[in-house]
This record gives sequence, C-alpha cells and structure tokens, in this order.
Amino acid sequence: MSPAVIALGSNLGDREANLRHALRAMDALDGVMVTAASGIVESHAVKPEGVDAAAPSYLNAVALVQSELPAERLLDELNRIEVESGRVREERWGDRTLDLDIVTFGVLSADTERLTLPHPRAWQRPFVIVPWLQADPDATILGRGRIDALEAATSSEVWAFDAAPLMEAVHS
Ligand code: AMP
Repeated sequence: MSPAVIALGSNLGDREANLRHALRAMDALDGVMVTAASGIVESHAVKPEGVDAAAPSYLNAVALVQSELPAERLLDELNRIEVESGRVREERWGDRTLDLDIVTFGVLSADTERLTLPHPRAWQRPFVIVPWLQADPDATILGRGRIDALEAATSSEVWAFDAAPLMEAVHS
C-alpha cells in the first residue's frame, strides 16, 4: 500500500457532480481506497496567456488515497475515469470535464514519458495546495518541504465553494 495524493479539477458540465463521480470511481477501483477528501475550492481558469476570467471557472479538490496499484497503473485508471466522464483532450490548457493528476505517490520520485512525480507544478498551484492543506495540514512535498510554508498556501486566487462534504460521495 502506498499513500497517494490526487488532485481533481473540473470546469465543464456539472462540475460538482464530476468531482463527486470521480471520487466514487476512484474508491471503487480494485486496490484503491479513498481515505480523505478536502472541501471544494473555486478559481478562475489559467491559460498560457494568464488568468482567463471569461472561461468557465474551475472547481478543484484533493483526495488522499491508499493504493495497492503501482503509480503507472493508478495513472491508467485515472485516465480511464477522465475519459469515461467525457473529457475531450484538445488544447493542452483547454477546458475539461475532469482532470485527475497524481500529486505525490509515497516518496516516489519519477520522471518518465508518462509520469513525473511529485507533480512538477503542484507546489505552485493554489488550487492544489489550498485544498491539500485542508485534507492533510501536515503534508510535505518531496524537495519543497511543508506545504503550509509555500506561497500558494495563502493565495487569494482560490475561494471556498459551498458544497456537501465530498466524502459523502464515497460513503453513500
Ligand atoms: P493533463 O492534460 O494536464 O491531464 O496532462 C496529462 C498528461 O500528463 C498525461 O499524458 C500524463 O501521462 C502526464 N503526466 C505526467 N505526470 C503526471 C502526474 N503526476 N499526474 C498525472 N498526469 C501526469
């Protein structure tokens, strides 16, 4: 079993339902158990040119899981869940119904064609760090230290989105 941290995001369709579906689908995987989830946060879409307040805004959350699957197999399953929820991959920074990233996988450090661990940009992203802190206030990221000390932890770029606790999606 390895502890892993998964970042969830959606800015198309019923965004909250997409996140709930993703959490339930992850917990239903053979060899994967969701142990905690953050609240939902909202933020403006970021495109290569910068913040795009005209694009649909994102909902994001972070889930803590225990995985018997190795990291690449977990990524396969997350990609399958993305596809099943109707994600269309077009532009790299494009709008999406569901985005699932592996932020950390135990203490694994990886840099392959398919997988970079820890996720190379997670530490800079308020929409990952703010909900991650909610789910695990003592979290650290390999090479970056405690996440509560990162600049992204105190960013005002994300705000709370009022919703029922995400773990209800797993337990109901
Ligand atoms: P995106 O379009 O942002 O979801 O990026 C997905 C691509 O990033 C896929 O081709 C993955 O193989 C690759 N990737 C590399 N590292 C990671 C990671 N830690 N978590 C998720 N996808 C990753």
